[in-house]
Amino acid sequence: MSTTAGLVIPCAAAVAWEAGKPLVIEQVEVAPPQAMEVRMKVKYTSLCHTDLYFWEAKGQTPLFPRIFGHEAAGVVESVGEGVSDLAVGDHVLPVFTGECGECRHCQSEESNMCDLLRINTERGVMLSDGKTRFSINGSPINHFLGTSTFSEYTVVHAGCLAKINPLAPLDKVCILSCGISTGLGATLNVAKPKQGSSVAIFGLGAVGLAAAEGARIAGASRIIGVDLNPNRFEEAKKFGVTEFINPKDHDRPVEQVIAEMTNGGVDRSVECTGNINAMISAFECVHDGWGVAVLVGVPSKDAVFMTKPINVLNERTLKGTFFGNYKPRSDLPSVVDMYMNKKLELDKFITHRLPFSDINKAFDLMVKGESLRCIISMED
Ligand code: NAD
Ligand code: ZN
Ligand code: ZN
Repeated sequence: MSTTAGLVIPCAAAVAWEAGKPLVIEQVEVAPPQAMEVRMKVKYTSLCHTDLYFWEAKGQTPLFPRIFGHEAAGVVESVGEGVSDLAVGDHVLPVFTGECGECRHCQSEESNMCDLLRINTERGVMLSDGKTRFSINGSPINHFLGTSTFSEYTVVHAGCLAKINPLAPLDKVCILSCGISTGLGATLNVAKPKQGSSVAIFGLGAVGLAAAEGARIAGASRIIGVDLNPNRFEEAKKFGVTEFINPKDHDRPVEQVIAEMTNGGVDRSVECTGNINAMISAFECVHDGWGVAVLVGVPSKDAVFMTKPINVLNERTLKGTFFGNYKPRSDLPSVVDMYMNKKLELDKFITHRLPFSDINKAFDLMVKGESLRCIISMED
């Protein structure tokens, strides 16, 4: 038992009071965890585009005040009733989507889209009682993605916490709780390139570079990076990307350029842009007979995917993935171990580090596209 178990913990949290306005570090009260919940001490958190998107609140229902943050790592401070597989002191990664272990999706070997704990961007409260665990002088502050890691302490459903190797450095593996696992899993679990194959990656942000890292690990011999922003190419070399295409440099569609470069198309492609045209090109650039394209990017609500059915009949496969098909609790510990065994490289994703008090600078870096991942330390 920790000395704070069962008590309200006052601590610092970065509160978003209004859309697009700088976060304010406030003293908040964090209530003890209820049934099936865990209170964790957040050690490190990083920032991902989803935080930025909901903080800007363009095109969705704004929900404020709110504590953002979903990529993080920390230590269990106390557990609520019924939590049997996590204990005080365990090292954990919180995940924006969960694994209840019992629903049809959790029971299926193929799915990670848990019915109970699947991502819900609109919910600002805990599932068990519809209330928040954060407050300031008694006024509730909303949660985000069930994680709210921009706080020294947070309360998370036990099904959204992966217990990891206690030797893993939390200031590095924290980036596995969202974007990096998404891209990595899209390649390793879904596209599954064979040794020596060719892979095209559309979009060379953190997610696409993680997909490239997956292709490198799988032993792909050609990794073709496609991006509209040539500034991304230099960085991408560190991720094993061997060739680059900027669609703006060509007067014909990029799928045609790729077909010419690869004698008919790549073996696999992974789309990590969210742009509908890139999604269609990513599908049409794979080789007939065996090519597999995987969509990862989140498109705008009204986007429509159009291609000629003959492209499918000619034995191309189109797939999509959510969180790289990883089941958070069952699979993330082994992704952490891939890093510990030096199979997976993480340091190259970490471009910046800042103390918690400078969290707004991390937002600036991401808005300007200057960072891949900025690690925010809660302790200094
Ligand atoms: P990012 O903005 O850092 O990178 C996207 C890159 O795509 C940029 O470099 C941009 O220049 C490039 N791009 C945009 N349009 C393009 C086009 N038409 N052709 C070629 N390149 C183009 O974003 P990120 O953080 O790496 O995330 C990538 C995508 O993954 C986003 O859509 C994000 O929402 C999505 N995502 C999905 C999941 C999931 O589970 N499916 C999880 C996390 C993120
Ligand atoms: Zn489930
Ligand atoms: Zn994320």
